[in-house]
Amino acid sequence: MSTRAQQYDAEVLRRERLSDHLVRLVLGGPGLTAFESTGIPDEWVGLVVPSQFQSRYYTVRSWTGSELTLDVVVHDVGLVTEWAARDVVGETVTITEPKGSFAMPAGAGWLMLVGDLTALPAMARIASTTTVPTRIWAEVPDAPSLQGSAYLPADADVTWLEPPGDGQSRLAEAVETIDWPAGDGYFWMAGESAQMRAIRKHLMRDRKLPSTAYDVMGYWRGVAQRQPRAVDPGPIWRAGKAAGKTDEQIWAEYDDAREPQ
Ligand SMILES: Cc1cc2nc3c(=O)[nH]c(=O)nc-3n(C[C@H](O)[C@H](O)[C@H](O)COP(=O)(O)OP(=O)(O)OC[C@H]3O[C@@H](n4cnc5c(N)ncnc54)[C@H](O)[C@@H]3O)c2cc1C
Repeated sequence: MSTRAQQYDAEVLRRERLSDHLVRLVLGGPGLTAFESTGIPDEWVGLVVPSQFQSRYYTVRSWTGSELTLDVVVHDVGLVTEWAARDVVGETVTITEPKGSFAMPAGAGWLMLVGDLTALPAMARIASTTTVPTRIWAEVPDAPSLQGSAYLPADADVTWLEPPGDGQSRLAEAVETIDWPAGDGYFWMAGESAQMRAIRKHLMRDRKLPSTAYDVMGYWRGVAQRQPRAVDPGPIWRAGKAAGKTDEQIWAEYDDAREPQ
């Protein structure tokens, strides 16, 4: 089975600052003609910015058939963050074909979404497509400006959490205090990898959830400096699916692949 992903050249058509730390990039142009969404609401693409060869991964916030929207967190230092912080309209980037992980079982009676700012684009897209009662916990630094915008659906049941500062996250602690709804549902979470590892343990050991009832993804690694490389989740995802592994096993393998050797 090939692990090579299809690639597309795309032009940055528009750039808009949504909040202090979130920048919207709208991509388009003839290179995207063959692009097809998977329809899975947390689908992501690899993004390679000009003069770089390494990819970083971003959620497809929306795809209209000709325009692809990515919402990029602008943090302190980083390959994409430094590029997206300036006016990049007119520049050409490369993106890879999308893959998605969200797989809510048909019988789920509720949905919980938990994440930091990097997960907000996926949580917004998931919340706008699901019909089951949904609760969201969002740990974001820009809550006041995002609360007042229509970023999340107006009827979404959202708890905004203040990050502790210094780029840290307390999402794992927050999840351990959640009051869980009765019955079967689906739990989706993404954010900093160490927090996600802690939550996987909690869901498996304390809550004893079957792996089909949750999807927990490490979106970024809190390391002291620019990452020497980012690991493409695409090939790990495709190989894991081909081998019949669960989403949980695949995302745990993805975390392991990113540990320093
Ligand atoms: C499937 C998937 C979907 C994703 N979707 C999105 C999305 O829609 N929007 C989005 O913004 N990100 C998303 N991410 C996360 C994004 O890929 C990472 O944050 C990435 O590391 C950013 O690249 P960079 O070049 O800016 O920083 P890097 O060069 O990768 O890292 C530089 C430094 O910044 C730190 N760092 C990296 N990310 C963050 C952060 N978010 N906050 C604080 N410090 C950070 C690192 O620890 C490192 O010290 C997704 C990741 C995955 C795997």
